[in-house]
Amino acid sequence: MKCVVFIFKEKAIMGVPKRKTSQARRDKRRAHKKLTAVSLSNCPQCTELRMPHRVCPACGYYHGREVIEAEES
Ligand SMILES: [Zn+2]
Repeated sequence: MKCVVFIFKEKAIMGVPKRKTSQARRDKRRAHKKLTAVSLSNCPQCTELRMPHRVCPACGYYHGREVIEAEES
C-alpha cells in the first residue's frame, strides 16, 4: 500500500486507510503479481542453452564472434 507522509509543524503526518482492504480486493491486486519463467534459446555457435542478449557462458560467443574466453567447468 502506498502512503504519503507530510511534514506539518515538524511532525510527520501519514495518510491512514479508512477501511480494511478486503481479502478479495487484496487478492485481485495481486492477481498479476507472479514469477515468469526465464526464456532460453540455443547458442548458434555451440547449441548450448543460453539467455537471449547475453554472451554464451559455454563458448563465450556473442553475435558470431568470441567476446570472452570460455569458462572451464
Ligand atoms: Zn555457445
